[in-house]
Amino acid sequence: MGPGARSAAGGDAEVVEIEGSLLPGLHDAHLHLEWLALRNLTVDLQDVPTRRQALARVRAWAERLPAGGWVVGRGWYNDGWRDDPSWPRPEELDAVVGGRPAILTRKDGHSAWLSRAAVRAAGLRAEDQDPPGTVKETMVQAVRKVVPEASDEAFDRGLLGALRALAAKGVTSVHTMDTPRAFRSLQRLHSAGRLPLRVTWSFPASELAAAERIGIRSGWGDDTLRVWGVKAFLDGSLGSRTAEMLDGSGTTVLPQDELRDLIRRCAGAELNVCLHAIGDRAVRRALDALEPHAGAWRRWRPRIEHAQCVDPADIPRFKAIGVIASMQPIHAVADRELADREWPAVAGHSYAWRPLLDAGAILAFGSDAPVEDAAPLAGIDAATSWRRRAGWHPELAIPRPAALRAYTSGAAYAAGAEKQVGRLAAGLYCDLTFVEGDQVAATVVGGRVTWRRA
Ligand SMILES: [Zn+2]
Repeated sequence: MGPGARSAAGGDAEVVEIEGSLLPGLHDAHLHLEWLALRNLTVDLQDVPTRRQALARVRAWAERLPAGGWVVGRGWYNDGWRDDPSWPRPEELDAVVGGRPAILTRKDGHSAWLSRAAVRAAGLRAEDQDPPGTVKETMVQAVRKVVPEASDEAFDRGLLGALRALAAKGVTSVHTMDTPRAFRSLQRLHSAGRLPLRVTWSFPASELAAAERIGIRSGWGDDTLRVWGVKAFLDGSLGSRTAEMLDGSGTTVLPQDELRDLIRRCAGAELNVCLHAIGDRAVRRALDALEPHAGAWRRWRPRIEHAQCVDPADIPRFKAIGVIASMQPIHAVADRELADREWPAVAGHSYAWRPLLDAGAILAFGSDAPVEDAAPLAGIDAATSWRRRAGWHPELAIPRPAALRAYTSGAAYAAGAEKQVGRLAAGLYCDLTFVEGDQVAATVVGGRVTWRRA
């Protein structure tokens, strides 16, 4: 760095030298901070190879909790433990949780392993347990009911951990779809100056009436934490066979008259809409319902979330109606085999980033974390070179600059933040992601380093 740059930054600026190529800060347009936070509140025993390591992990987790605090975990799988695959016993758990109540759900969710304090707290009789110290099926739910909900403080801690993990993946902004619980936590963290990235919050349609009463509109908040739109589900998912398809399969979650009513109310309240639509029929219904409202108000930016299967006839309508395609390229990697099996007739035009791009649609990319990994570099790879490597309809891949735009300026536009972030330009915030090879080297938000590789 030359002396000119140092003086331009101001005499007391901290100088940080970072290697790597520079990208505008990466922006995830669709994830769920609340689920990420809740994950951080449970000890994860998935894929732990031995019983000894599982118990060690529970011990390390329990030691950070207050005395008497519940140890909640999931994912253990005794059949996979190499050292001792026998069924787990309560006294082993007692030995590592320091007298705390503990419930650890098995990988399949059908059984739970309890400490003796948990057995007492749940008031279990001998006949409720099978064998002693474990419960099965409906008894798992019964014990869960006595586990107190996480305190605000614990939830904030889980959320902050999730945000820091995102910063380590190079993320500078996110657009989260969550209940008000996450928004309350985000506000607490924000007022304490602790948010390591910018967050735009969209809320479930069940909160629309409250938002209408308050008169809150898209964009309310500041450049760190803002409110954007209303999330509504038109259909289900490919994995659960509930994506609503033009061939008549799948499930209608939000009927068309209710959808039209919701969009009319949102347009009137100057709230944007984020419409979850995965199957080609759900996507068409979303476009049909949005069409009469094109340009409803100055910052009307309706989005279709996922848009995993779009009928080719509907592709040009995104641009024509001004609808943003909010997609998660990493879903294609995870869903490929399922799509070939469940959608044989339409897989060749599913996850159709290229046709949407060519038809002038604005793409906003995200991860849908924790459904998939949040790393934007993995998403960029999925959208660009993965299809060729995988031999899966490579003509639907997009060039790298277009994928980067979808993770920066496109995502910023989809959250109404294009005048603040999304490009490297004078007058915009200094949000940067440094990349070296396929690794994130550092993350900068508003000129502040939020993460850097050790
Ligand atoms: Zn989602």
